[in-house]
Amino acid sequence: MAGLKKAYPDAHCELDHANPLELLVATILSAQCTDKRVNIVTADLFKKYRSAADYAQAPLGELERAIKTTGFFRNKAKSLKTCCEALIEKHGGQVPRTMEELTQLGGVGRKTANVVLGNAFGINCGVVVDTHVARLAQRLGLTKETAPEKIEQALMKLVPQEQWTMFSHWLIWHGRRRCYARNPDCPGCEIKALCPRIGVTD
Ligand code: SF4
Repeated sequence: MAGLKKAYPDAHCELDHANPLELLVATILSAQCTDKRVNIVTADLFKKYRSAADYAQAPLGELERAIKTTGFFRNKAKSLKTCCEALIEKHGGQVPRTMEELTQLGGVGRKTANVVLGNAFGINCGVVVDTHVARLAQRLGLTKETAPEKIEQALMKLVPQEQWTMFSHWLIWHGRRRCYARNPDCPGCEIKALCPRIGVTD
């Protein structure tokens, strides 16, 4: 953790957002899509849709067109609508601050809830396990688990709670900049002395 912190002192959530609702929307859109693409789409989207009511009241087809290039746009548009309808019905249009309430919104799983809690509210409720975190947790020998929920539980036992959000950022940044899925840059890696390189063949 010290090595990664030193390598990425300014690691942060790379999804552009100015408030919890925008982060929630961006995270829903980020499934199977790059943050870069999501940021291009949300640059326009957030100008037009400013409140939960804006999403809830939007015709589905209009939302679908607005987010089309993020992929899986039909499901994502439905998720945005159901989620924002629930925000209005149950939370006065505001994004709630607990794991339980967030995961009860349609289209919001534990990973999305962790992103929102950690980055919009500064609440360390879990560890975000995306494709980078899952891959690096294996390579670094932190767990043998492969299911995201189980990887998360293993990491929560290893990492102090106050570091959960940053730990996830450090792994994601390292996964994007050094420990690539294919051909990781082990010779240039800042933490190579500590890494057992599990499953890395070359
Ligand atoms: S040594 Fe290689 S496998 Fe280990 S963290 Fe660094 S880049 Fe990834």
